[in-house]
Amino acid sequence: MGAEGRHWREECGVVGIAGSREAAQLACLALHALQHRGQESAGIAVADGHSLVTHKAMGLVVDVFDEATLRSLSGTSAIGHVRYSTTGSSHLLNAQPIQVTSHRGSVALAHNGNLVNAQTLRHRMEQEGSIFSTTSDSEIILHLIARSRANTIEEAATDALRQVRGAFSLVILTRDRLIAARDPHGFRPLCLGRQGDSFVICSESCALDIIGGTYLRDVEPGELLIVGDGQLQSHRLAPRETERCCVFEHIYFSRPDSRVFGESVDRIRRRCGAILGAESPAAADLVCSVPDSSNTAALGYAAATGLPFELGLIRNHYVGRTFISPAQKLRDTSVRIKFNPVKEIIEGKRVVLVDDSIVRGTTMRKLVKIIRAAGAAEVHLRIASPPITHPCYYGIDTPVRKELIASSHEVEEIATYLRVDSLRYLSLPGLLRATGAAARYCTACFTGDYPLPFDAITDKEIFDQEAGSREVVVPPPDRSRS
Ligand code: SF4
Repeated sequence: MGAEGRHWREECGVVGIAGSREAAQLACLALHALQHRGQESAGIAVADGHSLVTHKAMGLVVDVFDEATLRSLSGTSAIGHVRYSTTGSSHLLNAQPIQVTSHRGSVALAHNGNLVNAQTLRHRMEQEGSIFSTTSDSEIILHLIARSRANTIEEAATDALRQVRGAFSLVILTRDRLIAARDPHGFRPLCLGRQGDSFVICSESCALDIIGGTYLRDVEPGELLIVGDGQLQSHRLAPRETERCCVFEHIYFSRPDSRVFGESVDRIRRRCGAILGAESPAAADLVCSVPDSSNTAALGYAAATGLPFELGLIRNHYVGRTFISPAQKLRDTSVRIKFNPVKEIIEGKRVVLVDDSIVRGTTMRKLVKIIRAAGAAEVHLRIASPPITHPCYYGIDTPVRKELIASSHEVEEIATYLRVDSLRYLSLPGLLRATGAAARYCTACFTGDYPLPFDAITDKEIFDQEAGSREVVVPPPDRSRS
C-alpha cells in the first residue's frame, strides 16, 4: 500500500466455488488471498443442495474463520466476500454475503462494485412497500430477484441485473446453483478457473493460485455464468458495450501476482514505472518505493533510468487498528508507525521516491518529512499515475472532490505543499500506453470523463454527507519550504 493508501481504500473481493466437498475451506483460503481488497468484514455462505448457511463477522478473514467455524459450514458450493464499505456504513448488518429467504428459497449474494441507480431503485421499491434490512446497494439486487416474475432463478437474476446500472462483479448462491455476473462495462475484475473438478469464480487470479487452481479466462463484461450439476453455462445479460475496466486495478488495487482483465498486473505496473522514468528522470543517487504497492513501479523506474533500487523505507506489516492519541498524530506517529526509513541508505543521498498515487497529500507530506529527517539530501517524488482530480462512483471509496489535492492545485503547488525538490506524475497517454489497450479502460478519476452517468444524488454523496465529520479541507500549499 502506498503512503496515501489509507485515503484510497480498497473495495471488495468475491469468490464462488461449486462442486467441492471442501467448498468453505477453499473459499476461506481464497478470501485470504483477496484480503487486500477489504479488511473490515469477511463472510462465507455454503449450500449443500438443500439449504444455505452464512457466517460473517467484522474483522480479517483470519479472525472471522477458525477451524471449528469452517467445519460447521458443510456443503459443496460456497460464496465468500471481503469488504471495505463503499456504500452503506461499516456495520455487520452490511457485511456480505447477504442471505435472504423468499418464495425462491434461500439466496445469498456477494457483490463487488457500486450501483449508480441504487437510490432511484430503492426509493421506488420502498414506495411500493419493500423493507430493506441493510443500507447496502447490493441488497437491491436481491429484492429485484425476489420480485421478478421469471420462472427460474437464472431468469430472475438476469431480470434483476438488467435493471441495475453501474459496477458489479458478483456471485449468487442458491441451494443448488452458483451464478456469477459482471456488468456490461466490466468495471471490476472477475475471473473463472478450475480447481480439480470444481469451478471457481474470483476477483483476482491470486485467489486461484492459493487453492491450487487454474485460471481459465475472465468472466466477460455482460456475461452471466451458471454452475449447476457440474455443468457451466454462459448467457449474455446484455449486448457487449464498450469495456471500461478500472485502470486503478492495475495501478494500485490488485496484487502484482494477479492476472486482472486478462493482463499481468506486475507487467503493467512495471511498465508504468518505466514510462514514468522515461518521461521524468531525475538527477539522483537511488530509487526507493513506498512499500508495498509501489515496489513494482519503482523497479520499472529504476530499470528505465539506470538508478539503483534500494529498500530505503521499511513498512511494518503488523500495524492493525493501533490506538494513536491525538497528540501522537500531530507528531506524525500515524505515518511513522507504518513506515520507517533506513538511515544508512538515505543519509546524504538524492532520493527518488516512487509512489502509486497521491490522494489528499497529507500522508505523503508526513512521509517526506520523515525521509528528510533521515538525512536525504534531496527528495524527488515520482507518481506512477496521473493526478487524481475526480472521485470514483464505481465502487472505490475515494474522498469527495474537494479533498483531492490535485482537483484544485497545480503540480508545482503540490510539490511545494509536500516539500519535495521535484514532483512529476505519469502522463495519461503514458499510463494508457502501459496498459497496452487504452480503449478498454475507465480513467474517470483522472479526467472526469465518466463512462456511465449516475443518479443526481448518488449513494456516495449520501454516504459522504452522513460522514460529514470526515471532511477535511486540503490545506493551502505551504510556500515556506523548510
Ligand atoms: Fe477506477 Fe477511477 Fe474509473 Fe473508479 S473512476 S472505476 S477508480 S478508473
